[in-house]
Amino acid sequence: MTYQALTETTVINYIKNRPALAAMFPPQAQLKAQEVGDGNINLVFVIEDPAGGQSVVIKQALPFMRILGDSWPLTRARIRFETQSLLLYNELAPGLAPQVYDHDEEMSLVVMENLNRHEIMRKPLVARRRFPLFADHISTFMARTLFFTSDLYLTGQAKKELQARYINPHMCKIQEDFVFTNPFMESEENQWNPLLKAEVQAVRANAELKLAIVDLKESYMAHAQALIHSDLHTGSIMINEHDTRVIDSEFAFYGPIGFDVGAVLENLILNCLSHYAHTPDPAERSEFQHYLLDMVRTIWHEFARKFEALWLEHNQGELVPARYWTFEGGEAAFAEFRRRYLLNILRDTAGHGGCKMLRRMMGVVTVWDISSIEDGQQRAIAERAAIKIGTRWILERQQFNTVDDLIAVVQEEMKSLEDQEEHP
Ligand code: ADP
Ligand code: MG
Repeated sequence: MTYQALTETTVINYIKNRPALAAMFPPQAQLKAQEVGDGNINLVFVIEDPAGGQSVVIKQALPFMRILGDSWPLTRARIRFETQSLLLYNELAPGLAPQVYDHDEEMSLVVMENLNRHEIMRKPLVARRRFPLFADHISTFMARTLFFTSDLYLTGQAKKELQARYINPHMCKIQEDFVFTNPFMESEENQWNPLLKAEVQAVRANAELKLAIVDLKESYMAHAQALIHSDLHTGSIMINEHDTRVIDSEFAFYGPIGFDVGAVLENLILNCLSHYAHTPDPAERSEFQHYLLDMVRTIWHEFARKFEALWLEHNQGELVPARYWTFEGGEAAFAEFRRRYLLNILRDTAGHGGCKMLRRMMGVVTVWDISSIEDGQQRAIAERAAIKIGTRWILERQQFNTVDDLIAVVQEEMKSLEDQEEHP
């Protein structure tokens, strides 16, 4: 079938005419379809047989991006990167991504499991819901998908072959521009709270900060460390109390591990700050904010622990053959190398997380946790703190040694904010 954007009507014919999909439903099923996408560049349909209860999700790429009012051309090939990576996640981290049922290259679509018992993580976090298994799940997802695609595990040949399948220049360009560059200079699509004019101008005129951000952009562009998801925010995570699934991996490519870890931690911090508006009761607010900061700590510790355990168990990658460490003192040197490797990831996590935090405050895309705060004054409280924390994560990252150093910055900025509230 030559490419056409599907509708709630044509998607049903599409399924009926595609044997692999038709076979998932009874022959006489009266299928119902609904477009549920909330994104700017893709259609997402839920198709279900109300009688039997079976359902699937079809995600189809549009040939343009709906942003800035107009549309920008955008290659539909991105659905191939999403399909490939979801399939790989199913192998490397079973149960932590939706199952993939079908892929149609010409139609630029992927057919996957309907996660109808899950919800996008941002909203329940705003409602202060707790997810006791999340830290375990997301740390497993990151440790396994990142370790097993890195030079610590794969041979050089296998890594480069895999990397070649993820040369994703158009999607990379979006992140390069909209995470690392445009938010920090004049660019027409940027938006920010007018109350933050001075803070935004200060960021754009801070030479030290801009030097650091360009280093981080270089890391994003040139450090092909592992296959990263590259858009791993809490809007790309579907969750319930028991289960966690990572979706929307269309940006996947070989990049720095800290970009993924940073995305997860940074989104939890932004949610934490959003409670200055969403949760007016100070005791209730503080309790949930603590919960989120504990979660940040646990995710990092669990990620680092699992990553290192995988490394010790599968020490076979191209970077360092096990024999390299066979000398007196070699074991300690190998332990020191692991420590430094993980420390670099922690510092990258702070740097990339910091850039992403800042861009959400002054670039083209916000986060719902904060943008949903209607009152501008209230919103500015969270936004101002995010700008301070993001700036410090970037500038101070080379002094960070543990995740508690990242969290201490958050706590200091939260404390100074609370002190101001008490003594304005
Ligand atoms: P985009 O890349 O356009 O942002 P997403 O992959 O994030 O698209 O999907 C958009 C929305 O569609 C999600 O926020 C979620 O509500 C819904 N969605 C996506 N995949 C699934 C799925 N497998 N099951 C149920 N809902 C889904
Ligand atoms: Mg997307």
